[in-house]
Parts: sequence; C-alpha cells; structure tokens
Amino acid sequence: MAGDQYDPTTAQIKFEVGSLLYSDAFAAARHDMIEQQIRRRGVDDPRVLAAMARVPRHRFVPTRRQKLAYEDVALPIGSRQTISQPYMVAAMTEALQLHSNSRVLEVGTGSGYQTAILAEIAAHVYTIEVIAKLSERAREVLASLGYENIGFRIGDGALGWPEEAPFDAILVTAAAHQVPTGLLDQMADDASLVMPVGGRFMQDLHRFKRTGNEIESTFITRCRFVPLVGRERTPERPN
Ligand code: SAH
Repeated sequence: MAGDQYDPTTAQIKFEVGSLLYSDAFAAARHDMIEQQIRRRGVDDPRVLAAMARVPRHRFVPTRRQKLAYEDVALPIGSRQTISQPYMVAAMTEALQLHSNSRVLEVGTGSGYQTAILAEIAAHVYTIEVIAKLSERAREVLASLGYENIGFRIGDGALGWPEEAPFDAILVTAAAHQVPTGLLDQMADDASLVMPVGGRFMQDLHRFKRTGNEIESTFITRCRFVPLVGRERTPERPN
C-alpha cells in the first residue's frame, strides 16, 4: 500500500539525520500534507498519493512563499494567478481516472504543479496557458525536474488542442459558467473532463464522463477558482 512509504516515524528520523532517502528539507511537510489534508478528506487513489509524495511542490511556489508550499491553501504565483490548494489538485486528479497510457489535456498550466502530478501518472500531458510568463516559468521548472512527457502551448485553452485530440482526460483549472464546447468535442470515448463550473466567486467541481454521445455529470466538491479568460471576448470589430 502506498501509505507504507510515508511512515511518519521513519520520515521524521530520516529528516533529522538528513538521509539521502528523503532528499529535500520539505519531505516531512509533504508527508503531513498527504495525511492531514488529502487522505483524511477521502482521496485514496494510491497513484495520486504517490505522485503527490514525489513532486516537490515548493519548487512551483515563488521563493519567498516556499515555507507555505505545503499549507492547506492556494497561493499567489504572480500575474494575479494562484497555485491550487493541494487537496484540490488531488481531488481533481483522482476524478480524472487516469491510466498509465492516458493522454491528458490541461487548460491553465499556471505554476505547472498540477501538470507535474498528471505527468507522473499519465503517458503524456498537453498543457495550455494563456499567460506567456507563467507558461515559460512552468516549463523551466518542469524541465529542471526532468519531465519529458509534457507539451506546452501558450494561448486560449478553451479552444483545446485540436491537432492532438482526442484526449482520454481533460482538466480545466479555471472556472466558467459552462464547459467550452470545443473541449467536449476533443474528448475520446470514455474520457473524463473535470472542471469548476459556476459563477465568479464559487463554483462546483464536476466530472463529465463521455460514453458514446452521452455525457454524464458528477458533482465532486464546491470550489473557488480564477476565471477562464478569453471565452466571452467582445466580437471582433473592423478598425
Ligand atoms: N493548475 C494551476 C492552476 C493555475 S490557476 C496550478 O495549480 O498552478 C489557472 C490558470 O489558468 C491561470 O494560470 C490562468 O492564467 C490560466 N487560464 C485562464 N484562462 C485560460 C485560458 N482561456 N486558456 C489557458 N489558460 C487560462
């Protein structure tokens, strides 16, 4: 069982003696994050827990906020955007029902932390971010951690990535009133799409599961995400 890897007593001892087994100073904080925030709230998919134990979340947080990287909160990452709360990352990843051969589309790269979690579990991740600076920074961090199964694009993720469609799983990490139709069209049969749907300040996280032409929706949790931009653009006008 995945939990055996994070025995608190051992983690504490290794942490104190600086063992190579626990190669970063945040290992104990990461262990507590998984036990207190994630497992306790009901996420128990061993692949998700193992991915969250491996990925150094503090590397995706601005240096001056690294001490807070494993706290039970979303944190600012610049450009008025946030890295999602650890529990939310875990719940969304679990809801996607990924396999080791899944091809995943992520809309809203942000810090790249969620991208890393997806890349740990799935075969390939295609991630789109509308803010160039965030995409470039995420790309650097993910490259420095050695991920080679991630494709990056800067642009409006609501349009999806038609050249690489269909996807086995689609994750939208920004909120809108409804799922962009372009994304529904890019779902493979049996694919799951997970997205916060609702108003400006609170939304419901849903999983939409496609079976043939049917789409079944399941409520996961209440949530609060930054808005998906670029969909309600004013129509183009002649100059
Ligand atoms: N998973 C990210 C969440 C970042 S917040 C993390 O945990 O770090 C959501 C991100 O979606 C922001 O970076 C925002 O710029 C981006 N975003 C908003 N609208 C978008 C759009 N239409 N296309 C692509 N990215 C978008």
